Amino acid sequence: MRTSMKIFQEGDQSRAVCSHCADLVVTTFRRRDVPFSDGSSVAKNILVGVCDVCDTTVSIPAQSTPAISKTRKEATASIEANLPAIYVDVLDYAVHTIDHRASTDFRRVLLSYFLHQAAGDAQLATKLKAMHAKALVRFPEHRGVARRRLSMKVPVRVSEDLQSLATRTELNTTELLKSVVCSIQDDVLTAPKPKLIQALQGLAAISI
Ligand SMILES: [Zn+2]
Repeated sequence: MRTSMKIFQEGDQSRAVCSHCADLVVTTFRRRDVPFSDGSSVAKNILVGVCDVCDTTVSIPAQSTPAISKTRKEATASIEANLPAIYVDVLDYAVHTIDHRASTDFRRVLLSYFLHQAAGDAQLATKLKAMHAKALVRFPEHRGVARRRLSMKVPVRVSEDLQSLATRTELNTTELLKSVVCSIQDDVLTAPKPKLIQALQGLAAISI
């Protein structure tokens, strides 16, 4: 059975067991400061069910849980790679093609998007592994090739996507990113996929 997603507002009433009154009581939803789930500090103005008899907070509606959960404030991780400069050129050209107003920071969003898509799709992961051999043919690396450093802050979950892909493709971060950039080259520049471009343009519009 599907639970309905009822949204409560201040002043709505319900019933709950109040431990202070040791009874089933009428509660009224009010906004109160509530400790975060990890007890680290206090979340302000959270909607809670308050006992009408003794004024104790006796219930927290489901809609208030995200606000008091600290886990959603996800930490960031960094991805570092030292790539032959041509890969960064291709990446920046793709960024410019998607949205000429996008800053180079959109690199981060673009790479994260491709990493996340591939991490959730076994076929794409296999394709990335095969793409690596093509990358080395596409951009031969002679001795002394110019390199550029990529350093990006990404959500922890994206760095986990990268780790799991690295394991599955048996490529390190730098080599994996070469495959990802070549996929971006194919799907954005060489043979643009309209739906993909549309999704990426949407992301560019809301990225800083
Ligand atoms: Zn009470």
